[in-house]
Amino acid sequence: MMPTTPHLETIAVHAGMEGVTESGSHVPVIDLSTTNPLAGVERGGDSYENLATGGVIGAGDSAVYQRLWQPGVARFETALSALEGTEGTVAFASGMAALAAVLIASVAAGTPHIVALRPIYGGTDHVLATGLLGTTVTWVDAAGVAAAIRSDTGLVILESPANPSLALTDIRAVADAAGRVPVLVDNTFATPVLQRPVEAGATLVLHSATKFLGGHGDVMGGTVSGPEDWLVRLRQVRALTGGILHPFAAYLLHRGLRTLPVRVRAQQATAAAVAEGLVGHPALARVLYPGLPGQDPQNLIGRQCTGAGSIIALDFAGGFDAAVRFTEACRLITHAVSLGGVDSLVQHPASLTHRPVEAGARPGAGIVRISIGLEHPDDLLADILAALDVPAAVDRGCAVPLPQEAVA
Ligand SMILES: *Cc1c(COP(=O)(O)O)cnc(C)c1O
Repeated sequence: MMPTTPHLETIAVHAGMEGVTESGSHVPVIDLSTTNPLAGVERGGDSYENLATGGVIGAGDSAVYQRLWQPGVARFETALSALEGTEGTVAFASGMAALAAVLIASVAAGTPHIVALRPIYGGTDHVLATGLLGTTVTWVDAAGVAAAIRSDTGLVILESPANPSLALTDIRAVADAAGRVPVLVDNTFATPVLQRPVEAGATLVLHSATKFLGGHGDVMGGTVSGPEDWLVRLRQVRALTGGILHPFAAYLLHRGLRTLPVRVRAQQATAAAVAEGLVGHPALARVLYPGLPGQDPQNLIGRQCTGAGSIIALDFAGGFDAAVRFTEACRLITHAVSLGGVDSLVQHPASLTHRPVEAGARPGAGIVRISIGLEHPDDLLADILAALDVPAAVDRGCAVPLPQEAVA
């Protein structure tokens, strides 16, 4: 049984586990049913109508159909809501499916105008810039939010730390400037371990659960956490557009939450050590990491979030060519998109994640983003320093000797 005021670590391990022990299991059972027996024609029809319009399942009611309701997904949602401190959560098949649902709900409510702070995740930038889902967008910085709000503005969207500049945004200040307009914070980089946006005045919290929440690079998912009036609309969109999370993905994400606090803190400590170890390197114009001196001018660390996270970015003095050479020369660190997993990943945002972003707003060509994993900081630094030294077009092999089975 949970203590009355459990700490975050305890919540992470035990939330969403209601009834598991009583059922005779130690972990939740993965229920793969796509359909569920109905108690009767009338009761089944009532359940269908309730769930398809965004309601929650009642005691003893049928889940009807997996697209409408899934018990393992609901467990994961309960657990994440406890960590984010929100009334509830709606989980989707990916972070982009979660964002799409929010945008569709906003358009459906007659408020298709979105105010968004750049820089932001490339996919978010892309879907807003194209207006694919019927939204229009005004791009602003934090100071421009109030002036950009219109009568048809449905949302203000921001990310802190931002992708890939790692700049922090004052969520409270943006929420004040937004007034009646709800603020959605993409909390993928910080996770609820370091930052709970709702406590800072945000209405909705979005995650690409694919990243830190899963944490092992083997599951996709997305979430929106917030108040019940939004959850009803989002569950309706999810039921009608089919973006629900798969039960096995829900199981893995729920399991991922149990180690989230230790992973996030260990990765953060390593990222700080790596960032500090790279400051002043002659190949680098800047090391971007909000935990470094001078990179949190508003003192948001300690006030809005408890730490700088585990994503760093390197800005190469030699620009694009040097950034590309480095990215391709890393050996222990894998050249791949995504972040937040136990293994470190490196990528070149201007060529990859932020490729669709319009030229003027795209990250600098000399910027490389590294997601720091759970490897030893000395091994990561050795790999990075060796890759910084590599001349053009030389394959130098692996900087860190790996056991044979790891390279096979
Ligand atoms: C990856 C990512 C997304 C999109 O999530 P998917 O799970 O890939 O659909 C959104 N926001 C941020 C910050 C991300 O890193």
